[in-house]
Amino acid sequence: MEPYGIIPKIGKLLRSKEISCTELTKQYLHSAETENKRLNAYVKLTPEAALKTAAEVDRKLAAGEELSPLAGIPMTLKDNISTNGIETTCCSKILRGYTPIYDATVWDILKRQDAVLIGKANMDEFAMGSSCETSCFGGARNPHNTERVAGGSSGGVASAVAGNLAAFGLGSDTGGSIRQPASFCGIVGLKPTYGAVSRYGLIAYASSFDQIGPITRSVEDAALVYDAIAKYDPMDSTSSEKAQPAFSSLGKDIKGMKIGVPKEYFDGVREDVKAALQNALKVYESLGAEIVDFSMPSIQYSLPVYYILACAEASSNLGRYDGIRYGARTEHYADRDEMICKTRSEGFGAEVKRRILLGTYVLSAGYYDAFYKKAQNLRGTLIRAFEDAFAHCDVIAVPTVPMTAFPLNFTAQDAVETYLTDICTVPVNIAGLPGISVPCGFGGDSMPVGLQLIGARFSEPALLNAAFQYEQAARRDVFRAVETGVVL
Ligand code: GLN
Repeated sequence: MEPYGIIPKIGKLLRSKEISCTELTKQYLHSAETENKRLNAYVKLTPEAALKTAAEVDRKLAAGEELSPLAGIPMTLKDNISTNGIETTCCSKILRGYTPIYDATVWDILKRQDAVLIGKANMDEFAMGSSCETSCFGGARNPHNTERVAGGSSGGVASAVAGNLAAFGLGSDTGGSIRQPASFCGIVGLKPTYGAVSRYGLIAYASSFDQIGPITRSVEDAALVYDAIAKYDPMDSTSSEKAQPAFSSLGKDIKGMKIGVPKEYFDGVREDVKAALQNALKVYESLGAEIVDFSMPSIQYSLPVYYILACAEASSNLGRYDGIRYGARTEHYADRDEMICKTRSEGFGAEVKRRILLGTYVLSAGYYDAFYKKAQNLRGTLIRAFEDAFAHCDVIAVPTVPMTAFPLNFTAQDAVETYLTDICTVPVNIAGLPGISVPCGFGGDSMPVGLQLIGARFSEPALLNAAFQYEQAARRDVFRAVETGVVL
């Protein structure tokens, strides 16, 4: 297979010594510095560490040492992934000044492979949002049109990767935060099966949903990064040993593959987005796949289930920010209680406060059965609905988002309206399934549209291959989406 992903391309250039890792890193750092004014993708650049790693890669190359596929590749991490010695804020005022004393497992893995961290990427505060605009640093912009958002919550990573300020990045996805910004920015985002990638060192939002995954410029890149990070980790009690490498499955024939299309996912989807999806399904048919239309009525429960359970978990997880153990503390207070109260009032933004309050409410004695318990039961219903679906199809194909990237400030108007836009992404997190967003053309507004493929638990090899087959077949269009002023 001729490499087309940007990671193997850079790898080839480094190994053939057409460019040194130091030169390459300087180019990316320069772009990151200058373009960040326009895109606000990074909240912190890490030039010293980046150039140190680059020098080490150059030394190893000169010595003829065997390097990993990710060695020397300029990349970024969402700012909720802990980096030892580098400030990690979750883009919240309450964590300003917080510097972790350990690395998240995913970063430890990438560091050992000599990946080059360009900087920490912008995000919605504590990963709560769909536009990146709840960030205390202001939102990241979309490289396709800076009057549009990059999406959220991993908007900074998507903006950096689509804008060529990093070759790949890691985001986190609790209800769509990898797939939705990837869709908005015309790139690839993979939310792995729950348990496939360690969450150790990922600052928790809703622990039974959170999962780290790659945001890349191609499926090939996503498979390479996934293979590197999908490892069992004893430091995460929900980590699994079942994840299988995906890269070696790319290129397998998909003749006879059954693609399920649940009609409920298309309710309320914008016509131009629907049209792009229909075209993608035609591409699959031309590759010999079979389209199986079916119905999944329980999808209607997914938004309330997600917002009840995610807020409940968030209200518990965010209880640890009390001004004593981490980050910022209010300046003036009379006693401990006032200190905690003022720190939390000043440190958290409006969306985070809303979710802590909602979560506390649904867990409170009088309402636990009516909300939390009911949502847990319905979570089981949704899990079973997906199991039934995968009994008669191999993958499910749906839109990633019912629309294209929002204009700036769109989500400030109404929180519930914004929650509704997560309709196509949250079911995957509820059921712990893998989902990938792949660019599949443009809407009437010339903004990218994403095709979302969903697989059964731990089916990443087949899922990524299904995405790869589409991307290969639709390559020219896809590449129109990603070639937005390439560095190389
Ligand atoms: N937009 C969703 C939310 O606001 C998803 C966020 C996420 O996946 N972190 O909760």
